[in-house]
Amino acid sequence: MIDSPRRKTGSATRPLDRSAANGFSGNRIDSRSEQRGENALTEARADPQARFALMRDDRAILKVRGERLDGLFTETEALALGALAETILLLGFDGNLPRLAASIPEEAELPGDVKAIDLRSLAQQDALAPYEVGIYAQARSLLHWHHRHGFCANCGAKTDMTLGGFRRDCPVCDAKHFPRTDPVVIMLVVDGDRCLLGRQERFVPGMYSCLAGFMEPGETIENAVRREVLEESGIVTGEVSYHSCQPWPFPSTLMIGCIAEARTTDIHMDDKELEDCRWFSRGETALMLSRTHPDGLTAPLPFAIAHHLVKAFVENSG
Ligand SMILES: [Zn+2]
Repeated sequence: MIDSPRRKTGSATRPLDRSAANGFSGNRIDSRSEQRGENALTEARADPQARFALMRDDRAILKVRGERLDGLFTETEALALGALAETILLLGFDGNLPRLAASIPEEAELPGDVKAIDLRSLAQQDALAPYEVGIYAQARSLLHWHHRHGFCANCGAKTDMTLGGFRRDCPVCDAKHFPRTDPVVIMLVVDGDRCLLGRQERFVPGMYSCLAGFMEPGETIENAVRREVLEESGIVTGEVSYHSCQPWPFPSTLMIGCIAEARTTDIHMDDKELEDCRWFSRGETALMLSRTHPDGLTAPLPFAIAHHLVKAFVENSG
């Protein structure tokens, strides 16, 4: 067992990077993708120490043990719970322990001590260690990719899972398809002692967050930040600096967190994207983070990268 990477600072240690504070970032599975052969999945399943992370869409299947949750199942347990054999894939190895994943259909009945818990809830609780939550994020993204990519994008033929789930191959045109991650930029726009936050209609009442949007082909991270901010708020931004990132398994995104300096301050909000968008002082933002704002306004919870971008601004360390 190894812990997430940390660097030594005198006698204490602290995380090697800021991303380690973001939810879903603790996965330490080594995919060993370069060493995988045709029999990688068969060999992993034959190992008596192999364990399965089970998913039902974006919910993890977990054994409830009082206050704690136990996440990993043997293959016998997984199949008894209804795991679909054709979805079984190899995530990789925790040390030398094989870790696999499989999907469970909606209709499979679960025993009373087994629950399906959505990943956002899981990331907000302490019931699983961060590295275990990270395993489910990886499982969710990979299982979803295989589910949605059963046919070749080049010729339309049915594809086969290969290398234990690290690739899908087309038997007709020989195209090889790799699981993908979609980059999203998420940014806090700062104007001196103020920051820009917006809210979408779907947010919980009172919550404001950072602006965000998918990167487009051909863009740099900086270009995408400036374009998204301009489109959503009408604010022109200048310097963009990277803060941290977060795997976001809904279904398979990498959130790239940045701080952007405002060059203009008049807001012209895109009301198709946002319900509200405004400047908040550093003091007011601190109250939103600590959930003590007199009007009940809040910032996102600590599992979200937006929380840490806002926190960096409040602490003036971003
Ligand atoms: Zn093909």
